[in-house]
Amino acid sequence: MKTTIRVKLSVLLMLLIWVNTLHGQTTIYLKPARVFDGEKIYENYGVLVKDNKIERVGAQADIEKSLGKDTKTIVYKNGTLLPGLIEGHTHLFLHPYNETPWDDQVLKEARSYRTARAVTHAERTLKAGFTTARDLGTEGAEFDDVGLKRAINEGIIPGPRLLIATKALVATGSYAPKGFSSEIDVPQGAEEADGHDDLIKKVRNQIGKGADLIKIYADYRWGLRGEAAPTFSLDEIKLIVETAKSAGRPTVAHASTAEGMRRAIMGGVETIEHGDNGTPEIWKLMVEKNVYLCPTLAAGDAIMQYRGWAKGSGPDPDRIQKKKEAFKEILASGVKICMGGDVGVFAHGDNAREIEMLVEYGMKPIDALKAATSTNADAFHLEKQVGRIKTGLLADILVVKGNPTENIKAIRDIRLVMKDGKTIVEK
Ligand SMILES: [Zn+2]
Repeated sequence: MKTTIRVKLSVLLMLLIWVNTLHGQTTIYLKPARVFDGEKIYENYGVLVKDNKIERVGAQADIEKSLGKDTKTIVYKNGTLLPGLIEGHTHLFLHPYNETPWDDQVLKEARSYRTARAVTHAERTLKAGFTTARDLGTEGAEFDDVGLKRAINEGIIPGPRLLIATKALVATGSYAPKGFSSEIDVPQGAEEADGHDDLIKKVRNQIGKGADLIKIYADYRWGLRGEAAPTFSLDEIKLIVETAKSAGRPTVAHASTAEGMRRAIMGGVETIEHGDNGTPEIWKLMVEKNVYLCPTLAAGDAIMQYRGWAKGSGPDPDRIQKKKEAFKEILASGVKICMGGDVGVFAHGDNAREIEMLVEYGMKPIDALKAATSTNADAFHLEKQVGRIKTGLLADILVVKGNPTENIKAIRDIRLVMKDGKTIVEK
């Protein structure tokens, strides 16, 4: 008898939980003026969100024919709905160099302090509409991005879904901080590794600790006159890429010299970061090998301003002029452009700066938005999760006021940020 009651009670309890879950399943109908689906813009389109997924996207007239009674409708007059933006190049463990020089951040800031900052940086990134971010190295903060990512995933702190590089790899002697007495071994902003066994071990260790990708510095400013020069040999890069790839991780490269870029491309990396001194031959090679370029325009722009350039008054400095000319060449060459500003050099939350600069340097606004959504998703192997407004993808959604395909500044006028179906910002 007792057992029967117990069984009945437990069945009742299960039923209650089930009914509750049903009620928790809310469907939201977002009705903006237009939808940018990651590739094209559609007037009078709407989006249905159910739980954490995009249930439907289509003409408002069609969607409204079959709206359920308990569907919550939110209208955004003159609003544009887009996929949650994807930051392609950030360093959540860095803050602007005009606040504290990079060397001092690496050498004088405790990791606990850097983590405290990283937590606020993650929140600002998300609230700026960037629901996903690729963090390309902790710059001396060891594996602390692993814990940060976990805390975000578990909902302990708000932040974008992260792809992390952990420590990143540099050739011995090539990186920084530099300029200390040769008797002192100064902690570096990335992990030194060289040669066959050492590279394999360190790549595997980074993967084991939680790296989603391997980042290498294919060149750095260690040339005879302090200029950038290649670091790893082609064979070393091939080995890194092969080791990472067999564990399902892509390799990406910081590179700004033509030779550093060439080795990185031939070695099999998937994205090149910066690429300042690429040549027409290099762009051609990138197109052939389907390597993406993340030009990080905003970082160069910020650094020149930190060095005293008063932007907007007088002619552009040489470096900026060169970068602008090169960017036109790059656009014409057909290299796929990813959107990543090297955030940390400038303030987290100001991520849209790179999107604006892509436009300033000659990209059409819709192409810059594409770079920040579908192109980045494709480049980072996230196309089955985010980067488009498409049935079945995660409900990472941004709504802004105005039309950013006409005026890119509208990307900052945020009305809604939704990540994984959860509302983060609502105005
Ligand atoms: Zn960087």
